[in-house]
Amino acid sequence: MTTRACRRDVTIVGAGPVGIVLAILLAQRGYEVDVYEGHPDPRVNPRPGGRSINLTLAERGWQGLRAAGLEDVIKAMSLPLRGRMIHAADGELRFHPYTPAGDSIYSVPRSELTKRLLDFAEEYPEVSIRFGHHCRAVDVEACTVSIVTSGGERIDARPSRVLAADGAFSSVRRSLLRNPGFSFYQRLSPISYRELRVPPTAAGEFAFAPHALHLWPRGEGMIVGFPNLDRSFTISVFMPTQGETSFASLSDRRTLEAFMFTSCGDLLAHMDDVAHDFFNGTPAPLLSSGCAPWVHGGWLALIGDAAHTLVPFLGQGLNAGLEDCRTLAECLDDANDRWDKALAVFEDERLANGEAVIGLAEKHFDELARGARDPLFLVRRVIEERLHAIAPDRFVPLYTMVAFGSRPYREIAAVRARQEALLDRLMSVPDIGDRLHDEEIWRLARSELNALETVDESLVSDLEEALPLGALHPVATVT
Ligand SMILES: Cc1cc2nc3c(=O)[nH]c(=O)nc-3n(C[C@H](O)[C@H](O)[C@H](O)COP(=O)(O)OP(=O)(O)OC[C@H]3O[C@@H](n4cnc5c(N)ncnc54)[C@H](O)[C@@H]3O)c2cc1C
Repeated sequence: MTTRACRRDVTIVGAGPVGIVLAILLAQRGYEVDVYEGHPDPRVNPRPGGRSINLTLAERGWQGLRAAGLEDVIKAMSLPLRGRMIHAADGELRFHPYTPAGDSIYSVPRSELTKRLLDFAEEYPEVSIRFGHHCRAVDVEACTVSIVTSGGERIDARPSRVLAADGAFSSVRRSLLRNPGFSFYQRLSPISYRELRVPPTAAGEFAFAPHALHLWPRGEGMIVGFPNLDRSFTISVFMPTQGETSFASLSDRRTLEAFMFTSCGDLLAHMDDVAHDFFNGTPAPLLSSGCAPWVHGGWLALIGDAAHTLVPFLGQGLNAGLEDCRTLAECLDDANDRWDKALAVFEDERLANGEAVIGLAEKHFDELARGARDPLFLVRRVIEERLHAIAPDRFVPLYTMVAFGSRPYREIAAVRARQEALLDRLMSVPDIGDRLHDEEIWRLARSELNALETVDESLVSDLEEALPLGALHPVATVT
C-alpha cells in the first residue's frame, strides 16, 4: 500500500458526464483536478451494454454545457426532437409538439457524449483522468480517499477536497452511511427496462420520423424510440418487472412476438430479430435515491446521481446533474473560491431541488401508468390541455416547466401541487366527463386559474417542511 499526499487541489470521483463537466469547469477556474474513474477509458475499451444508450438534453443540461463552453459541439452531435409521436396500437400516429413555440429537446448517444467530453477535458493540462482507479471508500475524519487500481495497487490519497460524482451506486456515499447524521434512501421502481435497436431502412433512411421522440404507451408499460445520427433508432422498453404483461410474463419468443405484433406491429416490422435482442441479457432495474447532507466537513460534496438518482420518465437525471455543476461553479465564483462557503450555498440551493425532482419524476410515471388504466384520467388530461390553452402563462404543463426552463424544481413542485389541487376540484364536479362543453365548468376553471398566478417562497417552504427527506412525493402528498 502507498500513501501519498495529493498534489492536486480537487479530486473528483467518477468520470461520468457530471464528473467530466465539473472537471472542465474547475480547470477553467485554474484548479488542478484529479479524476478517478473505476472503469477503463471508454475510448480505448468501449463498455458493452451498460445503461441507457441515449440521453435527452434539455434546457438545464444546455445551461451546464454552455457554462463549460461545450453547448455548440455537443449540439452538433445531437438530434433535436420537437415533440412526441404517439403510436396507437392500430398504427395511427399523433404528433404532439412539446410547446407551441416549437422548443426541442435533444437526443444524444451516451457513449459518444462521454467520449467527446473526455477529449475536451484532456485538452486542459490541469485535468488528469486516472482510469481503472476505483474508489473503495472515503474517510471524512482523516480526509482520505482509498483507491484500488485495476492492477490491484492500493492508494490512500489525501486531497484538499473531494467531489463525488460516482453515480447512482456511489461508493463515496456508501462510506458516509457510517457517519451519524447522514441519511440515505433508495426506492426500487416496479418498472425495469431493456434497450433494443431499429436499424435504418433498406434505403438507408430512418424507420420513423426523426424529429420526434416516439412513444408506444401500452398498459402500465411503454416503449420509447430515440433517433440516432446513424439513422437507427434506440428503443427503450419500460415494463413492470412482474405481473400480467411484464418482463417476467414475456418469457419466450412466441409470447414476445405475439405481444409485439398486437401492441406495436409498426415497430416490430422494422426489427431484425426482436427476440434475440430482448432475451440477450436481463432487464435493468430503475430506482430513485436521495440523501442528506451532501456536504461533509467542507471537504467533500456529493453531486449528480451520487446525490440524487431519478427514474428516467422526465429525462432529467443528467440535466439536473449538469445544473448542479453550473451551480457549484457559480457558487465558487460568488464566494471567491472559499470552498466552505461555496459548498454550503451549493447544498442550500440544490438539495431541496434534488428532492423535488426525484418526487416529480416518480409522480410523473404514476400519472402515465394511471392514464393507461383509468378512463377518467383522460378527462383530466383534456381539462389540463384546455386550461393551458385558456391561460398559457398561468397553467404551464409540468414537462414544459421542467424541460424548457430553469425555474427551480422545488418551485415547480409547488406550482404542480396547486395545479393538481385545481384539477382535483374540477374532477369532483358530478358527471364531469359529460360536461366538458359546459360553459359553467370553464367559468369555474377561469376563476380557479386566477389563484395560480404566483407561488411565493412561503408556500414552497411550507411544502418542504411537511415533507421530510425521503417522503419522496411532494406532489403526491398534497394531491
Ligand atoms: C434508462 C435511463 C434513461 C435515462 N435517460 C435520461 C435522459 O434522457 N436525460 C437525462 O437527463 N438523464 C437520463 N438518465 C439519467 C442519467 O443517466 C444520469 O442522471 C446521469 O448519467 C448521471 O451522470 P453522473 O455523471 O452523475 O453519473 P454516471 O453517469 O453514473 O457516472 C458515474 C461515473 O462514476 C464511475 N464510478 C462509479 N463508481 C466509482 C468508484 N467507486 N470509483 C471510481 N469511479 C466510479 C462510473 O464508472 C461512471 O463513469 C437516464 C437514466 C436511465 C437509467
